[in-house]
Amino acid sequence: MGFARLRGFKDVAGDEARVFARVEESARNVFSSFGFEEIRVPILEEKEVFVRAMGETTDVVQKEMYEFTDRSDVRVALRPEGTAGVVRAYLENHFDKTKGLAKLFYMGPMFRGERPQAGRLRQFHQIGVETLGTASPHADAEAILCLAAFLDAAGAGGYRIKLNNLGSFEDRSQYKEALKVFFKDKTAGLCDDCKARLDKNVFRLLDCKNEGCRKIARQAPPIDGSLSPESKAHYAQVEEALKAAGAPFERDAYMVRGLDYYTKTVFEVTHPKLGAQDALGAGGRYDKLIEAFGGAPAGAVGFAVGVERLLMVLAGESAEKVLRDDTVFVATLGEKAFGPGFQLANRLRRAGVRALVDFAAKSLKSQLRSANDEQARWVLIAGEDELSRGELALKDLKNGTQETIQLSSAVETLKGKANV
Ligand code: AMP
Repeated sequence: MGFARLRGFKDVAGDEARVFARVEESARNVFSSFGFEEIRVPILEEKEVFVRAMGETTDVVQKEMYEFTDRSDVRVALRPEGTAGVVRAYLENHFDKTKGLAKLFYMGPMFRGERPQAGRLRQFHQIGVETLGTASPHADAEAILCLAAFLDAAGAGGYRIKLNNLGSFEDRSQYKEALKVFFKDKTAGLCDDCKARLDKNVFRLLDCKNEGCRKIARQAPPIDGSLSPESKAHYAQVEEALKAAGAPFERDAYMVRGLDYYTKTVFEVTHPKLGAQDALGAGGRYDKLIEAFGGAPAGAVGFAVGVERLLMVLAGESAEKVLRDDTVFVATLGEKAFGPGFQLANRLRRAGVRALVDFAAKSLKSQLRSANDEQARWVLIAGEDELSRGELALKDLKNGTQETIQLSSAVETLKGKANV
């Protein structure tokens, strides 16, 4: 009996792998234009790194982390998100001292032992950015503009950006009390989870998916009444910068985030093409986290986008196959032609042309089919007779034309055609 992959884990191949790579490329281009540099942090960290960042009471820490004790008796966990490791690296590598402001991006797998369903995996991928070392509201606006630019470049238009102000930790503890008072005499209408949340983490009541809880929660006082003038002023500047840039966003005064470390600005991007799990990405400011990791007080803001969700949004749109001008399929006819054809393909690749060759080299018909599958615009036909004359046939699958070219100058000719 063969093996099957674990539940909630996925193989990415074919079209999906191609779109995945294209999404990563868009991210690199856009992030670089905003001045973010890549950081690659380990997938495995001491468990405490994540607990410190996310907070003991979060669902991720309480029930979803892949954690174990390693062979040296260290309690470790597979990363459930990217921010904690980046903050650890920022301090451990002294970026706070050498760089001051650090603008970093990352991409890679994350792990959460959630119940798998459409759009929810146990290993999924995130692409994210973090701006560390600044309290400026313009850094929040920049992160949101960068997120929008990335989604536009990836071809995921039609998203919605929701924004909220969660204030400082002090503002929030005041709000927590206000919420407790509000929900106290309404427990009869709440689901069991929310009844438990009332004491442990009252904010979670605001984003319960249960319809009954939602109705009650929407009557709750919004956070604005608990916000300090400083928190309000910060948020107003974020909104102002976004408006001036023409970025589309809406305020959602009841939006809270699943992680404990956020302060002030929080945001979430949803897409109507996604089903129940409609969050495409999320982020916010986390002004207390660097301190919680032992650094000097310094503000930071970031976001993460779920790649699999982004691929769901892009599904279908990229199915159409176009012929690639940069691709040559070397079709060989007869056993003696294969060797020279194989060498030619190698020389083409060294010259920067994408070149493919069929190891089985059956009929011309089957090779032309493979060429089409590989999206090759050009087919170089190497037959034994032509080769003995130092010639090749070049077929242009786009225009349906064919010409004879010289073997000695084939690489130069194809470089010109493929525009490399
Ligand atoms: P979070 O770190 O929880 O704020 O999640 C940020 C983004 O990662 C979400 O908006 C999703 O797009 C994606 N994401 C989070 N959890 C999962 C999961 N279990 N499976 C797939 N994508 C996820």
